[in-house]
Amino acid sequence: MGKHFETEILHSEKKKTRNIKSKVTPIYQTSAFVFQDLEELEGYYHGNGQYLYSRTANPNTDELAEAVARLEGAPDGVAASSGLAAILAGVLAVVKSGDHIVAADDLYGGSFHMLKAELHDLGIETTFVSFSNPDLIEKSIQSNTKLLYTESITNPLLRVEDLEVVVEIAQKNNLYTLVDNTFATPYHLKPFTLGIDLVAHSATKYIGGHSDITAGVLVGKTELIEKAKAKVVNLGANVSPFEAWLTTRGLKTLALRMEKQSRNALQLAKAFLENPYIRKVYYPFDVKDDGYGAMVTIELEKNKVDVEEFFRSLGWIKIAPTLAGVETSVSHPLITSHRALPKEAAESLGITKEVVRISVGIEHVEDIIGQFNQAIEQALHH
Ligand SMILES: *Cc1c(COP(=O)(O)O)cnc(C)c1O
Repeated sequence: MGKHFETEILHSEKKKTRNIKSKVTPIYQTSAFVFQDLEELEGYYHGNGQYLYSRTANPNTDELAEAVARLEGAPDGVAASSGLAAILAGVLAVVKSGDHIVAADDLYGGSFHMLKAELHDLGIETTFVSFSNPDLIEKSIQSNTKLLYTESITNPLLRVEDLEVVVEIAQKNNLYTLVDNTFATPYHLKPFTLGIDLVAHSATKYIGGHSDITAGVLVGKTELIEKAKAKVVNLGANVSPFEAWLTTRGLKTLALRMEKQSRNALQLAKAFLENPYIRKVYYPFDVKDDGYGAMVTIELEKNKVDVEEFFRSLGWIKIAPTLAGVETSVSHPLITSHRALPKEAAESLGITKEVVRISVGIEHVEDIIGQFNQAIEQALHH
């Protein structure tokens, strides 16, 4: 039977895609998948055929999750709409109302707020303690504690967590562990291989690497990831196919980017050590000879440098409340990432107005160092 115009627009014979062998995975920009008949549909529920509806699973989001899981040395993973969504799914996979979490007191501001306010409202309590002191961690464990939660390299002061200690305390007390590995990335560190149960990423940062997506990934043992997947699906925290595709594309150059950015960061941090207008340089100098991560945090000399003028004088270096892109950028933790922290808490951690967080890019290192020196010169009090 011939079709009317309106019907023809929608139902004309589509190009046969089956035999097109594209070099990279196409974008499955579709909200759902089609079925031949009821038998095939029924088969989906028995595990034949993988895809039904993109909120539940999609080839692009699966590809991203599997790629990160492989790099982290973990058997399984799930992608989510943001780093926070991945962290939330990880937390809710092992913790429910009435349970308790012990978390590091220098977490990323957004994660801190999620635990402190949102999860608190859902009946999940968190005690925040300094993870540099194992005794404090142990002392904070209660009979309802289920989870220890920290970051492999902290934000913005770049403290390197001793994950072996965290794993030891968890095993002794029968607790799960969740580590945010956003800053280190699997290029530098694979927490799962050290015995951490769940590893979360803000893929928005180095996994994607180009400041053009918001996404998250959680990896771990299949049994826990199954639970986390249920949270992502049932709470609607899935990432879109296109975002997942872009993130997977960015991931291909993670090693190249991390190698170059870490080396640049180490050289920049060393140059800062020589600068008399910088009071403190935060960088994990001792971990690897050619740099450990691409973040450098400095504290400007309060009495010598005008902070506002410094930020105005950065030339091609952009002020941006994010990190990990290929371009060098700076942020002001006190008024952005750590805004959620009470001011006293921020200051007691050392996050003052003079603290500047630098995400080092892939430019020529001499240009990066030169631009920072020039900004400091221009901002000196006279
Ligand atoms: C940015 C960031 C997050 C949150 O990630 P989103 O993708 O913004 O949700 C979590 N942890 C760390 C360490 C981050 O830098």
